[in-house]
Amino acid sequence: MMQEAGKLRTIQVPGIGEVLLVKRKGARGLRISVSPRRGVSVSVPWLLPYSIAEKFLLSKRQWIMAAIERQARLLQKAEGSGKTASVPEDPAELERMREAARKILVPKLEAATVKYGFTFIGRVAIKNNVSNWGSCSSKGNINLNMRLILLPEHLQDYVILHELCHLRHPDHSPRFHALLDSILKGKERQLVSELRTWRIL
Ligand SMILES: [Zn+2]
Repeated sequence: MMQEAGKLRTIQVPGIGEVLLVKRKGARGLRISVSPRRGVSVSVPWLLPYSIAEKFLLSKRQWIMAAIERQARLLQKAEGSGKTASVPEDPAELERMREAARKILVPKLEAATVKYGFTFIGRVAIKNNVSNWGSCSSKGNINLNMRLILLPEHLQDYVILHELCHLRHPDHSPRFHALLDSILKGKERQLVSELRTWRIL
């Protein structure tokens, strides 16, 4: 079956500029994302009128403007220290990078699964996405961002272990963090803050 594309609408918001409203079948709630490169977009549930999304957006104007400023600052800092992770524009090069990522990340995930006694029977997908470094679906499939191979190895391991722990706890509950932190020998917070200094571009 073909994947359903989202419906789009662009609006102008004073002080912010162009904002993209994207209707998606899977969207459960209104979600704003702010990126210094891609601008501001709002994910809108399929059946929700655009007018409600617009009202919501306007109510969050101050927050969005602050987020744009904060992100621009973080990006500048990351660029200064070479901590940006981007992918090539050329489609063939992109696929080569994806294959390279698969060859590095999948064996790491498999080794960690065995080492820490996880049961992983789902699929691993190597994604070109800009919203996270990794995710774990309710069906137990794991997505890893192909940009992970641009990070130091201990951060790659951190993301993989984070997603593996979601197989046991599909949330960010205290039990989830307790499990992850014990595997990481008490270094979870340190690794999280180190990962935050990197920007996905
Ligand atoms: Zn998580």
